[in-house]
Amino acid sequence: MDVQKIREDFPILSRTVYGKPLVYLDNAATTQKPRLVIDSLVDEYYSVNANVHRGVHYLSQQATELHESSRETVRQFINAHSTNEVIFTRGTTESINLLVSSFGDEFMQEGDEVILSVMEHHSNIVPWQLLAARKGIAIKVIPMNDKGELLLDEYEKLFSERTKIVSVMQVSNVLGTVNPVKEMIKIAHEHGVPFLVDAAQSIPHMKVDVQELDADFLVFSGHKIYGPTGVGVLYGKEEWLDRLPPYQGGGEMIQHVSFEKTTFNELPFKFEAGTPDYIGTTGLAKALDYVNGIGIEQIAAHEHELTTYALKRLKEIPDMRIFGEAADRGAVISFLVGDIHHFDLGTLLDRLGIAVRTGHHCAQPLMQRFGIEGTVRASFALYNTKNEIDVLVAGIDRVRRMF
Ligand code: PMP
Repeated sequence: MDVQKIREDFPILSRTVYGKPLVYLDNAATTQKPRLVIDSLVDEYYSVNANVHRGVHYLSQQATELHESSRETVRQFINAHSTNEVIFTRGTTESINLLVSSFGDEFMQEGDEVILSVMEHHSNIVPWQLLAARKGIAIKVIPMNDKGELLLDEYEKLFSERTKIVSVMQVSNVLGTVNPVKEMIKIAHEHGVPFLVDAAQSIPHMKVDVQELDADFLVFSGHKIYGPTGVGVLYGKEEWLDRLPPYQGGGEMIQHVSFEKTTFNELPFKFEAGTPDYIGTTGLAKALDYVNGIGIEQIAAHEHELTTYALKRLKEIPDMRIFGEAADRGAVISFLVGDIHHFDLGTLLDRLGIAVRTGHHCAQPLMQRFGIEGTVRASFALYNTKNEIDVLVAGIDRVRRMF
């Protein structure tokens, strides 16, 4: 993998901030976009734009073809059985809200239970809490050890007669932990319970195959895998999606409407009310093609090398505390240095041109588990280099000496 050549595909990486070369290490929040993704958005607005699905005219048909071929690209990327199983949404958060709302309405009653993990992102906690407030369901939480690994024995003990669904992230956006979701799904299925995988942080970094995992539902955002913002995916097994009620009402999700009775469209359109972001879905497909062109295994190997190197270098810094030391970990490192506030460290690194994230990373229960308010987080993507890690380490050292 020629990283220097890859970097040329991402125009933003050659810019400077405060007169310093940009070192972009906030990829878990969002990734930068290759030129071909940006161009695809502009090109479609320039030469194809028309609303999809409802038009007899040429442009509408061309836009529809692009949109539906993007669905096929996503299907192949996650190895779904059918495009009926690929629902376009605005992103991970909307996908989870959709699922919680539809699944909760149809399959959960007061006293029923959902199992989450202690390291979940707020997007996989708050929708369940809203459901709990509406319907009186209960939330059970899988604990973890100090390294940031979920305790599978405790997980098994959480199942009861009332467990209706499990919803867990594949990779932690804070600790980098890669959770053994395949094994966890198997355990859930032994209890007759479906499983939702939050793949927001796994899909850009590893092969995600919904059939191999046997996931019932899986969600991700396009913007974290080099695609545009505002588009994401809910994958669901067809037999589940068929049984779920629609989420929002409006255009495209109907078959026939009268004031007496409305019938709903087939999958996947039943869950896609209103004009979809058909320009965004084209951009997402281009991003997935781009990843395929490089190869997800090559990307994973490069990021693994970077992460191993970064962990080694960061540990050379005195008073360094790293949160998350799971045996199986991804390209995210959260840390604190001495008693320097994470916000101060992040702000001073920014002045050196280094973009990292600070704060609770939308995982406040996880912060409570560690008894901290927040961390600094560096997260890597396919275009990052060892040199950038050296710049980060030198920057942290400089800030540390200032304090
Ligand atoms: N889940 C995880 C694990 C995430 O890292 C994120 C984004 N930080 C989300 C959900 C929410 O994604 P989005 O904001 O794109 O909906």
